[in-house]
Amino acid sequence: MASRCYPCDHSVGPRPGSNSTGDPEGACAICGVLACQGHGRREINAAKFQCVICIPIVVAASVAATAKKSTQLAQQLSVLLEGLGASAWLISTVADFVERYPEFSGITREIAVIQHDAPHAYTTNQTEPFYSSLDSEQQALLLLAILIILRLEIPTDLLPEPLQTLVKPWRQ
Ligand SMILES: [Zn+2]
Ligand SMILES: [Zn+2]
Repeated sequence: MASRCYPCDHSVGPRPGSNSTGDPEGACAICGVLACQGHGRREINAAKFQCVICIPIVVAASVAATAKKSTQLAQQLSVLLEGLGASAWLISTVADFVERYPEFSGITREIAVIQHDAPHAYTTNQTEPFYSSLDSEQQALLLLAILIILRLEIPTDLLPEPLQTLVKPWRQ
C-alpha cells in the first residue's frame, strides 16, 4: 500500500502559496504523520520536518510558556508544550512567527480583526478567565493559532483538547 499525506487525507488546506500533492516528503518530527510538500516543510531553526497541523499547535503551546498557569486551559497548553519536547519550536512573538513562517504573513494581518471579536467569543467559565489573563501579545499569538486552523480548515477533531475548546466558538 502506498503511503499518503495525512493532511491531504483529512482535506486540510495547503500552506499559503503551495500546492498539496498527496506524496509524502517527510514525517513530522512532532506528531509523526507523513506530509506532502504543501503540508509540511523542513523547519530551519529546529532542523526538523514539521507538518502544517502542528504549526498552530506550536503557536498556541508557545503562549503557555509565558502565560499564568492559573486556569485549566493554561495548564492544558503547558502539558502540550512539554509534549513538543524542544524549545527550538517555541514562538515568542508574532514577528518571530513571520520570520520563521513567512508564507503565513498574510494571515497575521487578520489578527487585529479577530482580536476585536475575541471577548465576545470567549465567554464561558473556561475560556473567559484564560483569555483575559493573557497580555495583548499573548492574545495575538493565540488568535494567530486560531486563524491558521480556520484558514487551513483543519478539522476540530484533529486538534488537542485545549485547542478544540478555543477554536469551537469561531466555528459555531
Ligand atoms: Zn498533503
Ligand atoms: Zn505534525
